[in-house]
Amino acid sequence: MTDFVSELIKKVKPSATIAVSMKAAELRAAGKDVIGLGAGEPDFDTPDHIKAAAIEAINNGQTKYTAVDGTAELKQAVIDKFKCENGLDFVANQILVSCGAKHSISNLLAAVLNPGDEVIIPAPYWVSYPDMALLAGGKSVIVTTTQEQDFKITPEQLENAISDKSRLIILNTPSNPTGKAYRKAELQALGEVLLKYPQVMIATDDIYEHIYWGDEEITNLGVLFPKLMDRMVFINGVSKAYAMTGWRIGYAAGPVAVIAAMRKIQSQATSNPCSISQAASVAALNGPQDCLVPMKKAFKERHDWLVKALNDLPGFSCLEGEGAFYAFPNVEKVISRIDGVSTDVELSTWLLENAKVAVVPGTPFGAPGHVRLSFATSMDNLNIAVKRIKDCL
Ligand code: PMP
Ligand code: GLU
Repeated sequence: MTDFVSELIKKVKPSATIAVSMKAAELRAAGKDVIGLGAGEPDFDTPDHIKAAAIEAINNGQTKYTAVDGTAELKQAVIDKFKCENGLDFVANQILVSCGAKHSISNLLAAVLNPGDEVIIPAPYWVSYPDMALLAGGKSVIVTTTQEQDFKITPEQLENAISDKSRLIILNTPSNPTGKAYRKAELQALGEVLLKYPQVMIATDDIYEHIYWGDEEITNLGVLFPKLMDRMVFINGVSKAYAMTGWRIGYAAGPVAVIAAMRKIQSQATSNPCSISQAASVAALNGPQDCLVPMKKAFKERHDWLVKALNDLPGFSCLEGEGAFYAFPNVEKVISRIDGVSTDVELSTWLLENAKVAVVPGTPFGAPGHVRLSFATSMDNLNIAVKRIKDCL
C-alpha cells in the first residue's frame, strides 16, 4: 500500500507526556488500579466564576467566529495582565490569543524559522519543544544542564551554543519538568550574553508563573533588559494557573511583525480559539485572583511532601523546585539495582507494571537517568504511589 505519511512527520515523535497520560487512563478504564503521575494538569476544577462566564457567553450568543487573534476584551485583559503582573507594556497588535500555549509556541516557530535555523533549547526541556521546532523546519540545539547546576543554563553554555544560524532560544521558567526557576541575577547574566547577539530571538514560556513559591519575586528578561523587547516573545495561558487545561486558551505577546506573522498562520490554520473559552478567560484574568491561592498552597504542600518522600527512597535523588507541579529525580541508582532495567524508559515501564504507578521517563525531556512525577494529584494518590514504589524496590 502507498505510504502517504510525509518524511518530515515520520521524524516527529508523539508527545511522551500525553502518551503516558493516555496509557494510564486506558489501564484504569480496563479496570487496572493505576495511579497516574504522568499528566501535567491541575486536578482542581475550573473556578465557578469562570464557568459562569462561559455559560453566560453561550446564553448571550457569543457563539460565532471572533477576530482571529482574540476578542478585544480578552486582548485587553491580557494587556492588563502583562502590565500589572509583569511590568510590561503591550498594545493590541502585539497580542495573539491561540488554542493553548502549545499552539502559541507552534505559531511562533512557524513564523520565525527558515529551513535549518537553529533553536537553542536548554535541557531538561518540555517534551514538545524539539519536535515543534522540527515541524517548523528548524534544528534544535540542545544545551544539557545537570542537577549540580540546578538544571539552569549558564551564560557560558549559552554563548557556546549561539552560532550564525541561531534564530531563537526557548526559556521556560518555572520549568517543566524540573520545577526550577531562574533568579534575577541568573537572568541578568543570560541577558548580558543575549544583548550581544541581535539575530537571536527569545521566547519565554511562563505558563507556570503563578505556581511559584521561590524566595525572590519572579522577574523577566524584558523588564531587566528593555533593549531585548524588540526580539522577545512572551508565552503564557490560562491552563495551569486557573485549572483550565481543557478550555484551550494560550496567548503570546511580542513584536508587531512577529505577532502579525503568527496571526497570519493562525488565520489559515485554526481561525480564532473557541469564543466561549475566550469569554471564560476574560473572567479568569479580570476576575478575583484569590482562587489561585488554595491551588498554589496545595501544590507547595505536595511538593514538599513528595520531594522528601522520594529522597527517602533508595536510589532517588530529587532537588526541591520553586514552582510548577513536577518532581524530577535522578534515578540512575535505581536503574542499576533492578535486573532487566537499564534505562529510565525501561524503569518507567517497570514501575507501571510492578508498582502500578505511571511516571514519564526523563529521556523525552532530554534528561536520561531521570523520571518525572506530576504532583497535580491528591495527597492520597501521592501517598499510595510512593508506598507502592517503595514496596516494589
Ligand atoms: N509550556 C509548558 C512548559 C507546558 O508544560 C505546557 C503544558 N501543556 C504548555 C506550554 C502548553 O499548555 P497549554 O497548551 O495547555 O496552554
Ligand atoms: N504540559 C503538560 C505535561 O507536560 C500536559 C501535556 C502536554 O501538553 O504535554 O504533562
